[in-house]
Amino acid sequence: MADERRRIPGTGWLLHSPELAAPIARLGRPLVKSVVQRVQQRARDGEIDPDEVLDAVHAALPRAATQLRHVVNATGVVLHTNLGRAPLSEAAVQAMGEVAATCDVELDVHTGHRGGRAVAVRAALRGAVPEAEDAHVVNNGAAALALAATALAGSGEIVLARGEMVEIGDGFRIPELLESTGARLREVGTTNRVRLEDYRAAVGPRTGFVLKVHPSNFVIRGFTASVPPAALRELEVPVVADIGSGLLHPDPVLGDEPDARGLLRQGADLVIASGDKLLGGPQAGLLLGEARLISRLRAHPLARALRVDKTTLAALEATISGPEPPVSAMLHQDPQRLHRRAHRLAETLSAAGVPATAESAEATVGGGGAPGVVLPSASVALPERYGKALRGADPPVLGHVERGRCVLDLFAVPEDEDELLCRAVLACD
Ligand SMILES: *Cc1c(COP(=O)(O)O)cnc(C)c1O
Repeated sequence: MADERRRIPGTGWLLHSPELAAPIARLGRPLVKSVVQRVQQRARDGEIDPDEVLDAVHAALPRAATQLRHVVNATGVVLHTNLGRAPLSEAAVQAMGEVAATCDVELDVHTGHRGGRAVAVRAALRGAVPEAEDAHVVNNGAAALALAATALAGSGEIVLARGEMVEIGDGFRIPELLESTGARLREVGTTNRVRLEDYRAAVGPRTGFVLKVHPSNFVIRGFTASVPPAALRELEVPVVADIGSGLLHPDPVLGDEPDARGLLRQGADLVIASGDKLLGGPQAGLLLGEARLISRLRAHPLARALRVDKTTLAALEATISGPEPPVSAMLHQDPQRLHRRAHRLAETLSAAGVPATAESAEATVGGGGAPGVVLPSASVALPERYGKALRGADPPVLGHVERGRCVLDLFAVPEDEDELLCRAVLACD
């Protein structure tokens, strides 16, 4: 046994071996060293032969220096928060790569002087939403709300309907966020109904603004009433609308889902939205609307703490100005094509002995918007045990379990990933 141990290659020798030069360049020496030490321990424990150490190190090396990796979204939920919400367009990914090195984020290369940050993305947003006099970009939708509350209400009041006091997910509650900034909430109406008189009675000298929040993940039906932004204008305080989704124009596929242009036209002074929901871009918070209000937001010291980095600015601009992002392409895809893909996959899998069937399915947009909207889709159903095995595939595939079966919904799976999905299922047995 002691002789065997002596045959285990040493750490220094392994790290200097030519076979590990490329992995060290790619992953960094500390990461490779930790893998080497783990494999040496396995050899000491007699799990592997000393001659196999170098091969085992190669097999155990991660592919990249990050642990985050691609997961195939076969959940039928287009915007899945656990899966990073919107998949970025190729143009956005390319734009991030371009600016990843040094770039002209705050430089005017013509004059050689300092240039304004986010000038291009603001122009792109104004182009896409002509109703907005100006735009400001922060880290996410929550940051946009926090900035609006801090800069426009301060320690004053934000007037908000009870039926719009929304919890977004993972315990994130909009009212709690607003109160955490020091502003006070003035609740009006009841869960299902609010009238203009309720707002009128609540608005006073302490009012910072009236906030409308889109209930982006639930629907209240029946005896309901709410007040449109146009009617709130008579209150003579700013009307801020949090639409959540980041939809810039109306989309017939999404029913009544509110859009930025529509809300500004209806009289909202400021619209707040996320970048990585229906807009289909990177995580960001958008503030669009009246120039005077946007200037107050931009000039507030908190704006600096919430500002986005160069890669976000680049990806957001490419999403707005470039080719149609994947989220929009998915929402407008042909269901027949999804069915053909499901049948093709089920046939290939059945021929290989996997009990797979093609079925109709109903996809959803997800917590980011369009609650209640059903998107016709197609899926491949497998025995339930495939669910766990597919999460262990490379890359992992995430479906959902339904009536004791593992269902792979193709709605949010790009067509060029069908082969990958097929291989992942075949590798499960
Ligand atoms: C998602 C959402 C938010 C929060 O946006 P994040 O970008 O997740 O911070 C705020 N309001 C509404 C209505 C939302 O749907």
